[in-house]
Amino acid sequence: MSDFAAIEIPQRILLGPGPSDVPHRVLEAMARPTIGHLDPVFLQLMDQTRAMLQRVWRTSNPMTLAVSGTGSAGMETLLVNLVERGDTVLVGVNGVFGGRIKDTAERCGGKVVALERPWGEVFEPGEVIDAVRRHRPAVTALVHAETSTGAHQPVEGIAEVVHDAGGLLLLDCVTSLGGVPVEIDAWGVDAAYSGTQKCLSCPPGLSPVTLSPRAVEKLDRRSGKVPSWYLDLTMVRNYWGEDRTYHHTAPINMLFALHEALRMVLDEGLDARFERHRVMHDRLRQGLEELGMRYLSQSGHTLPMLNCVAVPEGVDEAQVRRTLLGDYGIEVGPGLGAFKGKAIRIGLMGNSATRRNVALVLAALKAALPLASAA
Ligand SMILES: *Cc1c(COP(=O)(O)O)cnc(C)c1O
Repeated sequence: MSDFAAIEIPQRILLGPGPSDVPHRVLEAMARPTIGHLDPVFLQLMDQTRAMLQRVWRTSNPMTLAVSGTGSAGMETLLVNLVERGDTVLVGVNGVFGGRIKDTAERCGGKVVALERPWGEVFEPGEVIDAVRRHRPAVTALVHAETSTGAHQPVEGIAEVVHDAGGLLLLDCVTSLGGVPVEIDAWGVDAAYSGTQKCLSCPPGLSPVTLSPRAVEKLDRRSGKVPSWYLDLTMVRNYWGEDRTYHHTAPINMLFALHEALRMVLDEGLDARFERHRVMHDRLRQGLEELGMRYLSQSGHTLPMLNCVAVPEGVDEAQVRRTLLGDYGIEVGPGLGAFKGKAIRIGLMGNSATRRNVALVLAALKAALPLASAA
C-alpha cells in the first residue's frame, strides 16, 4: 500500500498570468487512450493540428509545429536554431520576458544589443527601426505581449527594415496568440513562439512555433550543428514532415488537448475571440479604476488579457492574493521585477475571459482590499 495519500486538486478560477481555465472538452480530449507516436491516427491528428495552428498564426508557413515543452522551450528552440555564434541579436527589453530572450540569445553565443525601455512602456516602431539600421542584426527580437507589465507592443512596419538589413524578425507571442490579432504573414514576422496555457486555454506543455521560409533558409545555411539535440529543428521537422522519422516521443496526450483547444478557438472564430477579450477587459478596467487601482502599462498600449495594476497605497498585495485564493478560490498573479510588491496581475485569458469571472474578481477585490490595508 502506498504511504502517500491522494491529493485532492481544488477547483480554482485562474485569473493570473497563466495557466488559464481549461475547458472540460480539452481535459476530456487529454484523457483519451494514449496511442503510439507513429500511429496513423496520431499522424493525422498532427497534420490537422499544424493546419489549425497555421490559421491561428495567420500564416502559410510550412514549418509550423508544436515544440515539446512550455513557451520557454519554444523561445529556446527558435534562438538555438536561428542564432549562430557571433550573430548580432537586437532584443527589446521592457520586462521579464525580453530579459529572458536576451539571456538565452547570449547563451547561444549571440552578440546581444539590448534596446531598453522602462517597465510598462512599449518601443516606438521608429526607435526599433533606427537600432536595426545602426546594428544590422541577424535577429531582432520583440515581445508582443509582455506579461510582466501588460504592455502591448506594436509590430507593424518593422519587418521590412529588418529584412532590408539582412535579418529576421522574431516575436514572443506566448500571451498574445488567441487573445489579440497576431498576423505572422501580414506583419512579415519570421519566427514566433507561443504557449498553450495562456489564451489558447489548454494545459501547459506545448509551444506552438512558426518559421518563415526566410528563417528556414538561415537554419539551412548554418555552418555547424544546432547546439541543442532535443530542440534541433533540422531533425524535429522530419518527424512533423512527410518522413515521420522518429526523433523523440511526442507528448501524445498533450497534443490531443491542443488539437481540441484549437478546434474550440476556431469554432469561436478568431475575431470574435479577440472582441470577447476586449469587451471583458473594458469591464474589468472600469471596475478596477473604481476601486482605485491604476494600470502600470503605457496608456493606449494595454493588453486586454493581462491587467497589471498598482495596489492602492498601504495595501499589502500578498495579503490580497492570499484572500482571493483562500476565500474565493481565485488565482491572480503577483507583480514581477520592478513591480514586485507593488502590483497584482489579473489575467483574462482564453476561457477565463468571461463576464462571470470579471464580476467575481471585482467583488472579491472589493472585499479583500480593506482586509489587506495597513490603516
Ligand atoms: C508565460 C510566458 C513565457 C514563458 O512561457 P512558459 O510556458 O512559462 O515557459 C514567455 N513569454 C511570455 C510573454 C509569457 O507570458
